[in-house]
Amino acid sequence: MSAVKEPEIRCPRCAWRPKAESRWICTPECGTEWNTFWTGGVCPGCGHRWKETQCLSCHRKSPHKDWYHYPEGEAPADQERLAEPAAAG
Ligand SMILES: [Zn+2]
Ligand SMILES: [Zn+2]
Repeated sequence: MSAVKEPEIRCPRCAWRPKAESRWICTPECGTEWNTFWTGGVCPGCGHRWKETQCLSCHRKSPHKDWYHYPEGEAPADQERLAEPAAAG
């Protein structure tokens, strides 16, 4: 068990959980493929910040922050935090 509280990441609509190998494509901006939760929704190719993230399972879009579910039930107030590319698994 770790002392660090990490939010669970899942689709607010269907509860699908992105995997480490899940990829989003920056389109029509630059075409970069990456895991958007490693960068907090920022494209590493062009720096575009995606406010909404599309679910790869149900294909609906939700605000990026709505994907983070904190154990305490409270998200940190207005804090922009970049997800670290931590090893998932
Ligand atoms: Zn891009
Ligand atoms: Zn979904």
